[in-house]
This record gives sequence, C-alpha cells and structure tokens, in this order.
Amino acid sequence: MNDKIDFPQTDLYINGGWQAGADGERFDVINPATEEVLASVASAEIADADVALDAADAAFADWAQRTPRDRSIILRKAFELMSARLPEFARIITLENGKATGDAMGEATYAAEFFRWFSEEAVRADGLITHAPASGARIIVQHKPAGIAVLVTPWNYPAAMATRKIAPALAAGCPVILKPASETPLTMLALMPLLEEAGVPPGVVQVLPSRKSGPIVDHLLHDPRVRVVSFTGSTGVGRTLLRSAADQVLKPAMELGGNAPLIVFEDADLDVAVTGAMQAKMRNLGEACTAANRFYVHEDIAEAFTKKFTEAMAALKVGNGLDDGVDVGPLVNASTRDKVAEFVDDAIAKGAKCVLGGQRPNGKGFFYPPTVLTHVPQNANCVHDEIFGPVAAIQTFTDQDDVIARANDTEYGLVAYVFTENFKRGLQVCEALDYGMTGLNRGLVSDPAAPFGGTKQSGLGREGGHEGIKEFTETQYISASW
Ligand code: NAD
Repeated sequence: MNDKIDFPQTDLYINGGWQAGADGERFDVINPATEEVLASVASAEIADADVALDAADAAFADWAQRTPRDRSIILRKAFELMSARLPEFARIITLENGKATGDAMGEATYAAEFFRWFSEEAVRADGLITHAPASGARIIVQHKPAGIAVLVTPWNYPAAMATRKIAPALAAGCPVILKPASETPLTMLALMPLLEEAGVPPGVVQVLPSRKSGPIVDHLLHDPRVRVVSFTGSTGVGRTLLRSAADQVLKPAMELGGNAPLIVFEDADLDVAVTGAMQAKMRNLGEACTAANRFYVHEDIAEAFTKKFTEAMAALKVGNGLDDGVDVGPLVNASTRDKVAEFVDDAIAKGAKCVLGGQRPNGKGFFYPPTVLTHVPQNANCVHDEIFGPVAAIQTFTDQDDVIARANDTEYGLVAYVFTENFKRGLQVCEALDYGMTGLNRGLVSDPAAPFGGTKQSGLGREGGHEGIKEFTETQYISASW
C-alpha cells in the first residue's frame, strides 16, 4: 500500500484554468483510513461563483450552437481518456472516500460510462413536426439546451454522481458549475485536464469546491443566468435547494435519500438471494442511496438465509481500501461512523440481536465492521432512516400483502429488491411497490442506460437512460403556417 500521492489539481477550475479562491482560503481533505491530510483545496467564495457564472455564460452560446455530433465526439473522447486511466481515478476515490479498490474501480468504470452513453444520446434528440388536428397550423416541437446548470454532488460516489450530471448536461448543450462534496473534491478536479484534452472548451465546465456550500449554492441559484439545479444528496438538503430554486422557478432534478426494502420470499433461490443481498447491502460498504436498508425475509427461510448471509458478511476483509484483498474500507468520516454505531446501539437496546459485528474498533480510521442484526423491532431507528453503512437489519414476514405494505411504509421511494423464483409473483410485487426502481432477483440496478431515480421524497426527475438528457433541455413548441 502506498497512500502518498501528489494532487496537482487543488485549486478552483474556472474558465479552463486553475485559480486560488478570491480570499485565499483553503480546506483539508482527509484520508478516512488514516485520518491524515491528503491535500489542501481552495475554497470558493461568492466572488469566485460570480467569475464562474460569467465564464459559463460566455461559453453558453457557442456550446449550445455546436452540432450534436461535435458534442458527441468530445464526450466519446472523454470516455476513452477516462477509461484509459481507471486505476488512477480509483486510487484517488479510495484515498478521499475510503472505499476499497474493487468498489472504486467499479465506480470509476461506471462514471466513465456516462460519457459514452450520453455521447450516444447527444445525437438522438427527438422532436416533432405534424399537422394540428383542426386549426390548419403545423405543430413543431424541439428540445433546446435549458441554460447554465448548477450541479451539487455527494461524497459517496465522487466520480459517478458528477459524471451522471456533467455528461447529459454537456450532451444537451448546457454549461455547468459543479459544487462537489467538501469531503471528496479531488476526483473531479483530477478529471478536468482530461475534459480539456477531450476538447471541452473553457467555461463549459467549472468545479468549485467550497467549505461554504450553503451560501455559494444559494448565490448560484439566485443568478438569473442559471436555469437548472441538479442535486444528489440528502433529502433535507434537497428540500433546502428546492426552496431556493423556487425563487427563480429553476428546473430541478433531485436524487435524494432512500430506505430500500429487500424482500426474500420463501420460494427464492437462496444463493441468488444471498448474492443479491450482499451486493445490495455491501456495494460501497452500504454508503449508497441504493443500499438495502430493511431486510424482510419469509419466516420459512429466515434461518437458512441469515446463516448463509452472515457467513458471507463475516468473510469480508476490513482495512485500508488500498490494501490487497480488502473488501470493506472505512466510512467517510467520524460523524458517519458514529451515526452507524448509534443505529446499531439503538436497535440492540430495543430488542434486536446482533449476530455479527456491532463493535467499533479502536485505532485510526473511521472503520465499522460488517454487522448483522436479527429480530429488529419496528420501532428501531434503522427501520425508518438510512443507515448508510455496513449494517444489515433483518425482519421476518409471512404474508405477501403485509410485506408489500411494510415495504411501502416510508416517505422514501428510491429502490426496492425482490427475490422469488416465481416470475409472475415477482412482477406483481414489483408493480405494487411504490419505488422508482426495483431489482428482481438482482442486488444491483444502476446502469447508465436505465432511468435512475425515485418516487416520493427520494427525488424528482431521472438520471441516465433516455430521460437523463431531458433534465437539461427545454421543450419549445412553434405553431406555424405556410
Ligand atoms: P448532503 O446532502 O449532506 O450533501 C450533498 C451535497 O450538498 C454536498 O456537496 C454538500 O457539500 C452540499 N450541501 C450540504 N449542505 C448544503 C446546503 N445547505 N446548500 C447547498 N449545498 C449543500 O449528502 P451527503 O451526506 O454528501 O450524501 C449522502 C446522501 O446522499 C444520502 O442521503 C444518500 O441517500 C444521498 N444520495 C442519493 C443518491 C441518489 O441518486 N438518489 C445518490 C447518492 C447519494
């Protein structure tokens, strides 16, 4: 393991160049495995946000008027350049976020794929020209770039949550201003030279790390040149941004929190269910909006499932994500780790049984072991709130309608997982679940080609798929006679 790495890009990226913040302030980025400082990064101020807005505004007309094919070629090049350097990106992701190298490589690959997917979508914009039914007019419908987009992203996927927004925005013809999470700004800063090399012109993408997220983002959302806000993060901050966005009636795209149920029916294939449950729970060590948060296992197979699943959890190796063979790195910071520990302590105090893990280790790093809780009571906090860590909370059920009602009994609606060998039953249950996405006999739903997003308080809009680009376009209708 070697966690010494130079980070050449630690300033703000504005108008195709690097600048220290207006007042010279910087903040530290911490390696969660060692608690050491990785780099000191410039912190954007309001004055920097204004310079970024001017740059994006100046770049807009040219970028919007490029042919879709031009934009597509640049995005394809970005995919190729990033794909050629996946281990380098994975390493930066592991260093600043903590996740193990396998997870980081998975993220870097997924992140690069958004450039490929949207290079293909850029040239597939649809429109319409038709006769009005009665008036004699022609109806012309086309989709235009919406304008400058403000993108705000979380720390759990420092690369993918950003490229899932940057790629469709650029494909649509919109310049962007990205505010990455303060815990993990280095990955996106490292991407900027590649975007330049791919041909992205100055001003089309700016990156503004800042430790004053609230004021900076609020300022950006009140500039009349901005038309889109695309946010991924917690539901609480999403609500705040929606309120700010209301003042200028911005187009909002919100990818917010989740509380995913994972339902294992008595007719599930046990191996498929355990493999899927491990993916749904432990990908990104549970720090995922898609992480299975509530396990509902049919009483007839609860014992067999719990035994096999617990064995798989126990086999995971915890450690510095850069070390060979490590599956589970540290959580991103102390407060996230403490929150996970509180969920476990609360559930045990209310009657849950801890069959694996549950003890916070001593020493440096924000580690928490893979943990399995059974007999989790309905009033445990982890049943209602996102755990966001490597803890599986298992409950049992006997009745299909009852488990559907329990799964839907949450303000969230991002993703659910269903395991059964009866395909008809599986589809019926998926349709009855009030979720934007469902994994049927799969613990992994994310795919650049599919619409990612949730119902209820899990968000507004969709990213990826054919829908993703629409978050960055306006529909224009022309009523014409000739
Ligand atoms: P967060 O909401 O705390 O922060 C997200 C981003 O918003 C960061 O860049 C942060 O600096 C910024 N921010 C924080 N307060 C702000 C404010 N007042 N004004 C403007 N910006 C502000 O979320 P997090 O802790 O970084 O990420 C975890 C959350 O993200 C979880 O709830 C998770 O479910 C959610 N998430 C959702 C998806 C999805 O696609 N639905 C994907 C990943 C993460």
